[in-house]
Amino acid sequence: MNPLTEIKFKVPFDQVGAAHVEPAVDELLADANLSVQAAVADPNPLHAIDIMTERLDFALGVIRHVESVATTPAFRAAFNAVQPKASAFYSSIPLNEGLWKALKNYAATEEGRSLKGSYHRFLTKTIDTFKRHGADLDAAGKARLKEIDVALSEATTKFAEHVLDATNAWELVVTDEAPLKGLPPSAIAMARAAAESKGVAGWRFTLQGPSYTAVMTYLDDARVREQVWRAYNTRAASGPHDNRGLLVKILQLRNEKAKLLGFRDFSDLVLDDRMAHTGERAQNFLRDLREKTEKRFREENQELETFAGKKLEPWDIGYWAEKQRAALYDFDEEVLRPYFPLDRVVSGMFEIFGRILGIRVTEVKDMPAWDPAVKTFEVRDAASDAHLGSFYTDWYPRENKRGGAWMDSLITGDPGHGRPHLGLICGNLTPPVNGKPALLTHREAETIFHEFGHLLHHLLSRVEVRSLAGTSVAWDFVELPSQIMENWCWEREALDLLARHWETGEHIPNDLFEKMKRAKTFRAANAQMRQLGFGFVDLALHREWDGKEDPVVFARRMLQPFAAAPIPEDYAMITGFTHLFSSPVGYGAGYYSYKWAEVLDADAFTRFRKEGVFSEAVGRDYRDKILARGDSQDPAELYRSFMGRDPDPQALLERAGLVG
Ligand SMILES: [Zn+2]
Repeated sequence: MNPLTEIKFKVPFDQVGAAHVEPAVDELLADANLSVQAAVADPNPLHAIDIMTERLDFALGVIRHVESVATTPAFRAAFNAVQPKASAFYSSIPLNEGLWKALKNYAATEEGRSLKGSYHRFLTKTIDTFKRHGADLDAAGKARLKEIDVALSEATTKFAEHVLDATNAWELVVTDEAPLKGLPPSAIAMARAAAESKGVAGWRFTLQGPSYTAVMTYLDDARVREQVWRAYNTRAASGPHDNRGLLVKILQLRNEKAKLLGFRDFSDLVLDDRMAHTGERAQNFLRDLREKTEKRFREENQELETFAGKKLEPWDIGYWAEKQRAALYDFDEEVLRPYFPLDRVVSGMFEIFGRILGIRVTEVKDMPAWDPAVKTFEVRDAASDAHLGSFYTDWYPRENKRGGAWMDSLITGDPGHGRPHLGLICGNLTPPVNGKPALLTHREAETIFHEFGHLLHHLLSRVEVRSLAGTSVAWDFVELPSQIMENWCWEREALDLLARHWETGEHIPNDLFEKMKRAKTFRAANAQMRQLGFGFVDLALHREWDGKEDPVVFARRMLQPFAAAPIPEDYAMITGFTHLFSSPVGYGAGYYSYKWAEVLDADAFTRFRKEGVFSEAVGRDYRDKILARGDSQDPAELYRSFMGRDPDPQALLERAGLVG
């Protein structure tokens, strides 16, 4: 028996091995192909389409998860062997002509035309997806679309390689100690280790994140900072890893693809099924925030120059900002750790959201797991005791586990009919050491809340169409349920439930709490303008660039108003901007969604603020109107049904300290 071929609620993680992966995926791919045939032959194909990949999804979900948290060389090899087959199968679905005919025929029937609710949305969305994959194009159009997709995939892969190679090709080796002045011991040790790893004497600095950030933040010698800053911001802009030509090519291909499919530009194509819907709306959203941020932005820059006592260059900003922060707030995040023992944070979180959302979370011991550090829980409805779902938590780093924090779903159930959901949350948080419990930073506590929010979006879902359930929502909406949770980590009453000194049991002292809050809004306008600038340049390149001007010059001009100091002529951050250009879509035309989601979470939280951060009435409303709904309705409608109006950026501006 292969443990991957049947959907089992108690996933046999203790039995899954590398040898099961390929046979299971081959069998399930064959099975899914038969299900596709059955859907094609079905006069009402919607339900068949909805479930045709269910068993394959489950197996691939388990495989992907084991690869993320408990991999071995054999398992990784098996995982890599099935990936191309699986992705080829999934990308063939919206190109399947039989399915397209079945969908169109059904949509034209009396029944298809009079569909309501989530099946209506599922039909419309599926048809739109097929269209965006070229289902309505003639043979020549389909052939061209295929060429564009291949060319885009090649160009974006090359773009990413160039950034990586250009980053790795640069180094600065220092052989005497004088230029190191200002760096903290940890950064000096890191530079020393980087030199040793290359067999060179002295200290070696690179353009990798930790090295670059340490230099920009702490190194006293402005000439060294300038050298590193210039290298970083001209990566992949010349020489053997030059991305200029690729940038033009990617933008042109994306534009051609959008036009071929009947859209004004690439942003309208990408945003068609997102909450913003059009590039124009996303641009207006950013413009509005920019206007509301600029005044404070100019003040912050003035304050920083006054503090530094001189005009600042771009490579001075991070350095002087750190000096100013240290002068204004004598606050070190590390002093908070004793107040955040992990088990207390987690149980406090269950208590808070148990109350607010009307659920009960209890640990269970009868679920096999992939590692002894994993814990398992079930979630029940507090009123009816119905089993809504179960989940795994896996919080500490291990060598066989990937980095970061994430949530994933394994089974999308139907709790109303006795089939609970199954999901998981993972992190790489500070582990327990020296007989002490795991003591977290405040940011790590926020991370737990964030991932639990994604998990609740899945576990509390009540959507009849499986494909529209849980977190399968628009990209610019999916972070609302996660980010909103972080707000509770800043509310005194909530914080007192999860933050207690692990030895004394004391709450966080008030003066410390006040310092935390003040430090949070330090240079918030600069942080916001930086994100807005990236969003602006992204949408402008995909909507307004004329196809002729050097996009590096265009991007530089767009970004200048968002920078705290004048940027030099050769500034070319855009040739290193992998977010936008390292995959066919990626964050292309979607960078705005970071701010969009922040506006949503800050604004939605105002209902709790006004009616009580523990308000059960608001909590139930939030559960019914947002968490339970998945993608069964347009997210803008879901939002309005909860808030009674459209999103308002005011709450974000207040939270960031940008308005009175
Ligand atoms: Zn998230």
